Amino acid sequence: MQKQNIKQSALDPDDWDEYRVQAHRLLDVCVDHLQNARERPWRPVPDGIKQRLGLDDASSPSALSEVADELLADILPFGTGNTHPRFFGWVHGTGLSIGVLADLVASTMNSNCGGRDHVAVYVERAVIDWCKRTFGFPDEANGVLVTGTSQATVIALAVARTRALGAGSRREGLRNGPALAAYAREGVHIAIIKALELLGIGADALRRIPLDDAGAMDMACLHEAVECDREAGRVPFCLIGTAGSVDRGEFDDLQALAGFARERELWFHIDGAFGAWVVLADAPWNRLAAGIGQADSVAFDFHKWMYVQYDCGAVLIRDEALHRQTFAGRPAYLADQVWGLGGGEPWFFDYGIDLSRGFRALRVWAALRLHGSAAFGATISRNCALALRMAECVSTAPELELAAPVRLNVCCFRAAPQGLAADAQDQLNVRIAQELQIAGSAVFSTTMVDGRIVLRAAITNHRTDQQDVDESVAAAAQLAQRLIALFLGEGE
Ligand SMILES: *Cc1c(COP(=O)(O)O)cnc(C)c1O
Repeated sequence: MQKQNIKQSALDPDDWDEYRVQAHRLLDVCVDHLQNARERPWRPVPDGIKQRLGLDDASSPSALSEVADELLADILPFGTGNTHPRFFGWVHGTGLSIGVLADLVASTMNSNCGGRDHVAVYVERAVIDWCKRTFGFPDEANGVLVTGTSQATVIALAVARTRALGAGSRREGLRNGPALAAYAREGVHIAIIKALELLGIGADALRRIPLDDAGAMDMACLHEAVECDREAGRVPFCLIGTAGSVDRGEFDDLQALAGFARERELWFHIDGAFGAWVVLADAPWNRLAAGIGQADSVAFDFHKWMYVQYDCGAVLIRDEALHRQTFAGRPAYLADQVWGLGGGEPWFFDYGIDLSRGFRALRVWAALRLHGSAAFGATISRNCALALRMAECVSTAPELELAAPVRLNVCCFRAAPQGLAADAQDQLNVRIAQELQIAGSAVFSTTMVDGRIVLRAAITNHRTDQQDVDESVAAAAQLAQRLIALFLGEGE
């Protein structure tokens, strides 16, 4: 038999010196980009670039220098804009300079964190242990890093389902179980609803409890809803508290909910996507998080209010055994070994959905090593103070009015000129948001408050300062003045 002469792989550089040159060049431009983030507001992707991105002739190779040029010219300038200090839209984290370096190292290692015995797994455990201490969870509690709170919620509610129906439900599904019911505030994040859908429990199982005057779930209504379900023969299984509602940054009374859940043997889950991090902040904001350590599970993101690069979230589960019962399972090719690379028990794969998992934990670990947790607490407090400042600026602008009290880092306001019908006012506020985005002056998003469209700023940006807030509101007010004249003119 003749031996084949197998060619060298084309997938490593054939000129490492050239690779080094291009790598340094890219790194330099990226560092410039970080350092001058303030000069780089959101820019729409030009049509020409959208077309160039098509991989129509992907069958042929290109030179590294050419690809590097494209990365710098066609990709890097056209991000979401959330690296800019005047980006207040949705709840977008900013990303940290150390994250770029951590990702470089993680990407070089290309670790698979589903399990096995290697350093990335120890880093992830260190991050989870830090989270447990930070949120007041016991040492025996468990956790796993995931893409974000959406996935964390699926994992948490899956464990809650196991507690309600037993591990047999993994095989049987829900067909032999009773009808379950879950409880959350009116306006609860869609992540909760999606999780109930995916787990086969169904969105109809969710009771949406009205809010009290403090913007928290009304305890009397909650009580009533649970009783009503019990009487109807349904099984209340899970209470979901919100730490930082996405629209207005409101908190449920987590301590009261924890007590209620304990009395009625409900699983107590907390959606803490961004708000959970007030545990690190100064008074009075940190008081909102009181009771978080009493939850059975909490879902949260590093990529929002810990400013860490996307994507990076986590879930903590108090009961490790139940967590394992919900997800563990090992086909033969993954059987554990006592020692060697196949060791490293317990495997993260047994605590979640993904078998193959990236080294997200390094971003968090490196950020905490570099800055220390106190710096995050101070920045979160500063964001909250800036939201209050924004409310002050709004109240002094005659064109604008505050739409909801500022309780955290979220400020909702709007232009509501007299003489303009409600629908036209809604359109006006949407237009203000759009024009400010296009002009690169500031990014606000919109939401509904009391049935009306309002402008909304969520300040989860470590770069934002007081001048940014003052000038962004001034830009909104100025634009509002011009557009109000236009809208009123059109109405005539
Ligand atoms: C963002 C958010 C989620 C979803 O988190 P992802 O990380 O985007 O999956 C859930 N709940 C709240 C309150 C949020 O703000």
